[in-house]
Amino acid sequence: MLRVAVIGSGPSGVYTAEALTGQHQLPDIAVDVLDRLPCPYGLVRYGVAPDHEKIKSLQNNLRRVLEDPRVRFLGNVEVGEGLAPERLREMYHAVVYCVGSAADRRLGVPGEDLPGSYPATRFVSWYSAHPDEAAGGFPLDAKSAVVIGVGNVAVDVARVLARGADELRHTDVPDAALRALAAGEVTDVHMVGRRGPSQAKFTTKELRELGTLADADVLVREDELALDPAYADPSALPAVARRNVEVLRQWAGRPPAGRSRRIHLRFFLRPQELTAGPDGRVSAVRFVRTVPDGTGGVVDTAASEEIDAQLVLRSVGYRGVPVPGLPFDPARGVVPNDAGRVLRDGVVAPGEYVAGWIKRGPTGVIGTNRPCAKETAAGLLAHASALMARPLPADPLDALRAAGARPVAWPGWLAIEAAEAALGASLGRGTVKIPDWSGLLAAARGGAG
Ligand code: NAP
Repeated sequence: MLRVAVIGSGPSGVYTAEALTGQHQLPDIAVDVLDRLPCPYGLVRYGVAPDHEKIKSLQNNLRRVLEDPRVRFLGNVEVGEGLAPERLREMYHAVVYCVGSAADRRLGVPGEDLPGSYPATRFVSWYSAHPDEAAGGFPLDAKSAVVIGVGNVAVDVARVLARGADELRHTDVPDAALRALAAGEVTDVHMVGRRGPSQAKFTTKELRELGTLADADVLVREDELALDPAYADPSALPAVARRNVEVLRQWAGRPPAGRSRRIHLRFFLRPQELTAGPDGRVSAVRFVRTVPDGTGGVVDTAASEEIDAQLVLRSVGYRGVPVPGLPFDPARGVVPNDAGRVLRDGVVAPGEYVAGWIKRGPTGVIGTNRPCAKETAAGLLAHASALMARPLPADPLDALRAAGARPVAWPGWLAIEAAEAALGASLGRGTVKIPDWSGLLAAARGGAG
């Protein structure tokens, strides 16, 4: 039997398990899917915004894979210092790292770490009930918030800030976050790109959704959009960029409807500095006005602009984090690999693989991980007989326990799900996520986990 460990139960990990078990030449395979958290699904559970129920329902597809009898979910197992890759190699014929890109990219400007300025990924983790962010309290008494970056994460956090809590009550957003959002005072959200509208990274569906919020106007400035040469005639742009520009053009001609919140979409402003008020907290972001350089980039002008902000969310992309004991390319934030086969000093490391963002960087939608995982799985299966030639000790679960792990297995996760349904019922809501480690582990151990 081929024994494989997949590290990470987000989309790339689960798609890897699916690809490994989906082929028929090798029916004798056992795949352990390990995760640092007691809950599966990675960014589908802890990244997809709570009001994106349709994308969240992808969990049902991922679940089917984890319920395959040849697949075993083992949560609450952290790979790294305590459980090194070297040790895992003794327990499994092959190990596939699908650990994503867990950190945020830095802006590299003065004031970035002032109180009141956060990576958007932390805000996402907070409203998604990630247990590492249970204590997260954001200054939602801010009137004006600046979101730096114009990707889909920026759109998510701007939308959550601009939605009333009433619009989120039916979702699984944790109760403390819902109460904090309900008490929030943010009226103006400024989402700011350093380049032009035709270079924005958000997708059109997500952009358009901003225009559908019950109590928020979307405001764009025609003169600012017109700095982009493609604004007047977007026909030569790639499809997504063209549609984005078309949506922005419609909004440019639309008067505000006087709703109580406003989302200001701004472009050609490069963040230069975050400045503090007398209380030491962030009070504004200073931007330099940029203009197109004719090759897709921008150059600074002498003009600048300051936008008031008591809350700043820096949404400039994710970044991979090294796994102790695995090689890492700090420039790209990925594990060096050849089509998913880990390279140590440029040489293929037998039995070590990567898939997802840690393989190719933090880009693409969830579905992009499927072909990526398939490529890695195909490379692994092509070497199955050589990998299986190495004898292994019996069930790796014993070795994991001996290494100090206290795994939460599938019944433990089912117990968490049941506890979250019960919590929601007690609050008069649907399922409500448990936001802290102790609550999750207590729920899991209360089951058969
Ligand atoms: P992203 O798409 O890479 O966008 C990052 C944004 O930050 C860009 O606008 C970028 O501008 C800007 N930026 C980078 N460095 C900057 C700097 N130093 N100063 C100012 N701006 C800077 O990243 P993301 O939004 O974190 O999304 C990550 C991935 O997850 C994407 O593939 C995204 O589509 C996906 N995602 C999808 C959904 C969905 O489908 N609903 C939701 C969330 C995330 P430049 O272009 O100028 O570099």
